[in-house]
Amino acid sequence: VFHHVLRFYFDKDSDLRYEYVSLADKCYDRETGDKRIREHLEKAFEDESMAHIRYQLFADDAHDKGFIGIEKLFKVLSKSAFYHAKNYFSVLNKLQGIGVNLKTARTIEKTDRSELYSKYLPYAIKAHLPLAQYAFGEAYGAKMNYSGLLPEAIKAYRKGEDIKFDTYYVCTTCGNAGRLEGELEHCPICGAPLDKITRM
Ligand SMILES: [Zn+2]
Repeated sequence: VFHHVLRFYFDKDSDLRYEYVSLADKCYDRETGDKRIREHLEKAFEDESMAHIRYQLFADDAHDKGFIGIEKLFKVLSKSAFYHAKNYFSVLNKLQGIGVNLKTARTIEKTDRSELYSKYLPYAIKAHLPLAQYAFGEAYGAKMNYSGLLPEAIKAYRKGEDIKFDTYYVCTTCGNAGRLEGELEHCPICGAPLDKITRM
């Protein structure tokens, strides 16, 4: 929840000024009702979201090469991009409750699984492109592996309940994730050893 936004405007002498505007009693309709501003906000949100991920990947790369000063700069820029994206998301009024968020996530995952299975993976196999095939195949395997988690959460939330505060795992090699039941010996999707698996 955001309490203020920074508003820029030109005063009577055409000087650029700014002021803090409270969002507490503002309605979002004015912003989202303007088609062009909505498109600009959507595009800006996408760009900043992408920058957030890219800069994090650039930071990791700098880290691996021992350039920790540059790593830190990329981390700062990545975080900054996150907060810009967050503000655009807020002005677009995209947070409409946990129930809507859970269903949106379920739709995103379902679409991803379907694209991977029906389009991306078959083409990579047909074209004999093994790197893409592994990347898509592992993503698909992971998404199938945890596909039950969101529907469970939706069911619980409908009854007004939270889900259990479980332990999960995420494989840092292939992105596989799931609820941790018993002990893992390696990633069930890509076979990566335990030191590549993060518990959360
Ligand atoms: Zn894995």
